Amino acid sequence: MALPSSAPAAAAEVMRFDRLFIGGEWVAPRSGRVIRSVDPSTEEVWAEVAEADAADVDDAVAAAQAALKGPWGRNTTPSRRGELLSRLAALMRRDADTLAEIESRDNGKPLRDTKGEVLRAADWITFFAGAADKINGEQIPFRPDALAYTRREPVGVVGAILPWNSPISLCSWKLGPALAAGNTIVLKPAEQTPASLLALARLVEEAGFPAGVVNVVPGYGAVAGAALVAHRGVAKVSFTGDHRTARKIMASAADTLKRCTFECGGKSPYIVFADADLDKALTVATHSAFRSTGQSCSAGSRIFVERPAYEAFAANLAGRAGRIRIGMPLDPRTHIGPQTSAEQREKTERYIALGREAGGRALAGGGRPAALPRGYFVEPTVFVDVANTDQLAREEVFGPVAVVIPFDDEEEAIALANDTDYGLVGGLWTSDVTRAHRVAQRIEAGLVSVNTFRPVHHMLPYGGFKMSGIGRENGLEVLKEYTEVKTIVVELASGAPADPFAD
Ligand code: NAD
Repeated sequence: MALPSSAPAAAAEVMRFDRLFIGGEWVAPRSGRVIRSVDPSTEEVWAEVAEADAADVDDAVAAAQAALKGPWGRNTTPSRRGELLSRLAALMRRDADTLAEIESRDNGKPLRDTKGEVLRAADWITFFAGAADKINGEQIPFRPDALAYTRREPVGVVGAILPWNSPISLCSWKLGPALAAGNTIVLKPAEQTPASLLALARLVEEAGFPAGVVNVVPGYGAVAGAALVAHRGVAKVSFTGDHRTARKIMASAADTLKRCTFECGGKSPYIVFADADLDKALTVATHSAFRSTGQSCSAGSRIFVERPAYEAFAANLAGRAGRIRIGMPLDPRTHIGPQTSAEQREKTERYIALGREAGGRALAGGGRPAALPRGYFVEPTVFVDVANTDQLAREEVFGPVAVVIPFDDEEEAIALANDTDYGLVGGLWTSDVTRAHRVAQRIEAGLVSVNTFRPVHHMLPYGGFKMSGIGRENGLEVLKEYTEVKTIVVELASGAPADPFAD
């Protein structure tokens, strides 16, 4: 795949993604500024990426509005929208290696993860390609002498604001349904990972979408992000990121009464009853706490284990955490890479210190791997002797840190699980089928699983209770978030209407 500018001859050479994608053109940012993207495994700048500011966001929104009023809104049938999305998905599969490598350089995730994420993102786009011509309204039997029906119309221009942990994957969650439903979109990737969505834009161009349907404007949150949220031409903001940012967005969007959906963080409970298949529960717990270096909103970071199984489970989890291979993202043997930024590593280390100050013991990890002096690496860390009320157990770390906490009975497990401000994901392990349903129904989270964990999939609605967010992504459910319902009533009676002023 041709990258936005030529690939470097030597690894140390800085790549250039020096154009924004606006209105189907590759344009220089009006300010001429670039974001210098740091490879978190080397701490060196690996790419310079065009930086959008408010003026570029204006251009992008204008292009998206023009596409909506023009070729996309008026001349593109839903089936054609589906065809274009299918084509994009095929191109993503074709270029999965390149896209994955860009993402790994930007955010430090191992290639095995980023390649999987790109392929799954293509599945997401394929799913919504199939949905594009099945977004129907309803006919309502309102009265015999009237025809009443609803239409599901696009909301308009969508401003999509993305975090740094999985840019391509999370972009597909928004781009797929937004375009399937007939909207146009302006994508703002995070400043830490600005490059991969510009590479994706190349494929949007090659797929043949009309100009302005998809626009990509990397930039800083307080500048490009804030401009997108405040823009009068943006009808809806779809945000994934921190709940503190969501608060600011909600306040700013109030001015224009924009539709907003928020996918925020989590501190997800992972409940293990003593009657569960403990070996399976252990394998999945290790994966769910440490994959992507814990930089996952759905990480199972609070692990509650029934007392009889507690000690062995914590010790085995620590053993498995110690065997995870930490390494360079482009090495195919690497299990987990560094944290994406120096700030994120600092945050993780702050929580590790807080855990210790509160009397917690790290059974595994707790420091930086000695063999990797450069790069923002942190060891997978398993804490015990942490109370569910301690800061380490209450707040999202977004790093490779799990706490293991014992419980004595079902009621206590449910109370501990729900004693959190978050409510994104939850899960339990048991061989008792009635308990499985009983507990699943009482966990306050948008996605609850039994004997598996966070089965995040394009077919399954996903989103948060409480401070984990507002609205849902994925599944056909998300299409409601990208459409306005219009009710149309046609009078069929031929007689004169009642005239209250006739007497
Ligand atoms: P963040 O909120 O700092 O940044 C997210 C995005 O918001 C970035 O693009 C940033 O530039 C932008 N932004 C920042 N300030 C803004 C403002 N004032 N106006 C508009 N945009 C602004 O979050 P992050 O650190 O990039 O991501 C980590 C967070 O994302 C974690 O809390 C994680 O749990 C959450 N997350 C949630 C999901 C989910 O699906 N629920 C998925 C991945 C990540």
